[in-house]
This record gives sequence, C-alpha cells and structure tokens, in this order.
Amino acid sequence: MSDLVIGIEVHVQLLSATKMFCGCKNSFGDEPNTNVCPVCLGLPGALPVVNEKATQMGLQLALALNCKINEVAPYYRKNYFYPDLPKGYQITQYATPLGQKGFLEFPFGKGKKRVDITRIHLEEDAGKMFHSGDITKSSSSLVDYNRCGAPLAEIVTEPCIETPEEAQAYLFALRNLVRFIGISTGNMEEGALRCDVNVSVKNPDGSFGTKVEVKNLNSFRSARRALEFEAKRQRDLIAQGGQVTAETRHFIESTGETAGMRSKEELNDYRYFPEPDLPPMVTNTSQIEKIRQEMPKTPGQIAEKFEKEYGLSQYDAGVLTQDKETTAFFEECVKNGASPKKTCSFLTVEIQGYFAKEGLSLGQTKLTPKLLSELVKLVDSGQITNQSAKTIIPDVVAGSSSEKVAKERNLIVIEDESAIIELVKQVIENNPKQVEQYKQGKTALSGFFIGQVLKASCGKAQAETVKRLVEEALSRL
Ligand code: ADP
Ligand code: ZN
Ligand code: MG
Repeated sequence: MSDLVIGIEVHVQLLSATKMFCGCKNSFGDEPNTNVCPVCLGLPGALPVVNEKATQMGLQLALALNCKINEVAPYYRKNYFYPDLPKGYQITQYATPLGQKGFLEFPFGKGKKRVDITRIHLEEDAGKMFHSGDITKSSSSLVDYNRCGAPLAEIVTEPCIETPEEAQAYLFALRNLVRFIGISTGNMEEGALRCDVNVSVKNPDGSFGTKVEVKNLNSFRSARRALEFEAKRQRDLIAQGGQVTAETRHFIESTGETAGMRSKEELNDYRYFPEPDLPPMVTNTSQIEKIRQEMPKTPGQIAEKFEKEYGLSQYDAGVLTQDKETTAFFEECVKNGASPKKTCSFLTVEIQGYFAKEGLSLGQTKLTPKLLSELVKLVDSGQITNQSAKTIIPDVVAGSSSEKVAKERNLIVIEDESAIIELVKQVIENNPKQVEQYKQGKTALSGFFIGQVLKASCGKAQAETVKRLVEEALSRL
C-alpha cells in the first residue's frame, strides 16, 4: 500500500471544426486573433449557440470512460476576471455534468490498472497569454483570443491513484483513448491535453492528508516528476513535524521542483449560476445508443479482441494497442495472412527493438505491413527459420522483399533431411570428446550437438528437425 493519494484533472481539446458556442474556426497555430467573433470575444448582445459535434464528442468520451450519462446537463457561468477571458465568465457544466461515475482500465506493468472517473463535463477554453521575458517581472503581455471558446472536455478522477508511475500511465492511456476514438489530437505540446495533479500523503490512521494541486503540467514526464517531488517534499515536511498547506503550486521544469502559487483560501468565489443564454444539454437513450454504436473501438476493446480472437496474452494485446499506428499495422499484417502471434513478436520485439537501437519509428521507414507479413509468412510456413528471419529485419525495414533477400543469402531452409543427417554425422565425428562424455551419461550434451548442427547449417535447418535427427543419432551411439 502506498502512502500517497493522487487525483488528476485533465482538459482535452475537442477536434470539432468550429468552437464550442460560435462558428469560429477551431484550429491550432493560426495567426493570432484571426479566428474570433462577437460571441467568443464577449461583445455585448452576442448570443452563444451550442456546437452539436463537440457535444457528441464529449458524449463519446464519456461513454468510452464508462460513465453514467446525465440526460440533462445544464450550462453554468463560472465568473472570474482574467485578460484571457474577455466575457468575464467561462461557460461550463457544474453540479450535473454530462457524465459521472466512470472508469478507465489500462495496461500497467504486467497487469492492468483501473482508475475511477468522478466526472466529465464540457466547457469552453480561454485565450492564451504571452508574457515577455520572466513571468514575474515582465512588463508587457500579449493575448491571442483564437483559443477563446474552443471546446474542452474536463475529466476528473477519484483520489485513487497511488504512485507517480500510475499517474503517468493513466495520462498515457487517456491520451491514447482520445486518439483512438478520434475526438482530440491529444498533443500535449500544443496544449490539446493539459493536466493538473493533486497529491497528498496519508495520515498515520490511513485517512487522506491535505492535498496540494500542481497546475499546468505540459508533458507526462513533468507530471510524474512533479508528483515525485511533491511526494518527497510532503513526506519530509510531515517527518519534521510540519503540516502540509492546502495550496496550488506550479512545476519548474529546469529544477524539477514545485513552488507555491496561491493558497486555496485566496481562491475566487466563482459565483456559479445557470447560463441564461443557453438551454441545458439534453440527450436521450436512443441518441446515446446511436453514438455508442457508431463510435470507433477503444484501445481496451481492441486489446480484448486480440486476446480472444488471436489468443494473445494480455500483455501483448496491451503493447499492440499502445498507439493507433501499431494497432493498424498489426491488423493489416494479420489481414494479409501472417499469424497473429508471430506478427506480434516480430513487431513488438524484433522490429521495435531494432527501431529503438537505430532511433527509428514506424512510418519513418520503408517498412510496410505487406513487407512484414511476407517475412512472417516465410517463418510461418517453415521456409526460413526464426533465426534467419531476425537477420533479415534491417533489409525489410529498408524496403526489401524478404523472400528475395532470403534467396540471395541462401537462407531458405534445408528441406532435404539427408543433408541434415550428413551435418549431424560430421558434428559427431568432429567432437569425439563430447561423444565420450555423452556415452558416460552426460546426456545434457545433446543440446551442444544440436547447437553445433544448427551452426553448421548456417541457420538454415529447422531446430525441431535438427533436434529429432541429433537425438536419433545419439541414441544409436
Ligand atoms: P477541489 O474542491 O479542491 O477542486 P475536488 O474534491 O474537486 O477538490 O478534487 C479535485 C481533484 O483532487 C480530484 O481529482 C480528486 O480526486 C483529487 N483529490 C481530492 N482529495 C484528494 C486528496 N486528499 N489527495 C489527493 N488528491 C485528492
Ligand atoms: Zn467566435
Ligand atoms: Mg473541484
């Protein structure tokens, strides 16, 4: 049992073509202040209209997170002042969010981890500030309202995460999920996925301690590092007889430390009240069913299919669904007739191992599903050995046909057993000392003879055949 308690809040930018409550383009990286209108600039008299596509995406995510859907989810105004919020309030959902009481299950270590989801709600984003120089001393700030009114889904977890590693794995799984169902790019470096982490150290009686929130972490690694730092800081503080103060802190990338921003007591009172310009978000069972049916499969559902249909282990299925590209690549190979298990091991062990060594990645090379399935099928059909296949990987990654390479390198398996019998005979003749020891009862030496024959065949003899023929020859000694 860990002494830590962690809860995470994530904002995901939805990929609808237009913003949450107006027709402005919802896109990243455009010329500042070009995608704006009276609604998202909060000009007097402008009225918001709900984006149906963004609403659907929010519902998809709620369903993918196994949430209970609230059929009536009203919009509220959350009032506060900041230059990136020209209206002076943010439209969001409040006491009754779009979805509640869900969970996300994902691969973790050798098994799985489940994180409970408290709620998911829809809201609008604020603009983006640019401060010149050091944020504490800067004399001028610029604001870009392009992001103002962009659609966001906020996902809040229960305080059920126990370690920084689990927190990182949850964030990775959530990003993967939004990418698979196609509702967000999930690109943290573009701010399409942003997270705040909450962490506390348990009291000696097991009850939860005072939590500290670390805001605006812009990578999975930062989230993990911030949690590691906070865990140590809070444990040390408690050990020295001190008390943790409830506060919001920020993470300093360069030092790996967190520093205080403002204490919770000073926080605004948001004066939430129902948004008078918008009807509540209303959904019904048949709409929800339709969305559920039309929704792309989640990584979890695909992994389950891989386990059931292909007999892959939970671990392998998890590795194959770690990103959309790998999943699609694998499925294409299987469609081409390559055996799922062999494809999985070549893709996730041999190819990815080679990529890691060479600093490559899928889609960056000439490797196609067609080329990999050709290689796997050569192994499946026994035309080349597993061992030979591994030696061809660099060629296949460079775009060559494995059958062609196998022929050129003379790697096609020796079908003719008499040729292997001949090799066995030679190995026995060349190793009289081991033969003597074998005769005296050191039968474990059969492995040595098998190895020698495989070596002599230059990897062209199938191991099972060699094993059988060596054992036959040894039994006749
Ligand atoms: P607040 O009222 O400060 O916003 P919430 O209860 O809404 O707090 O929780 C915000 C986040 O903090 C949630 O993700 C929740 O799981 C997490 N959280 C709540 N209590 C704790 C705690 N004692 N330690 C760590 N995280 C916590
Ligand atoms: Zn607008
Ligand atoms: Mg809260």
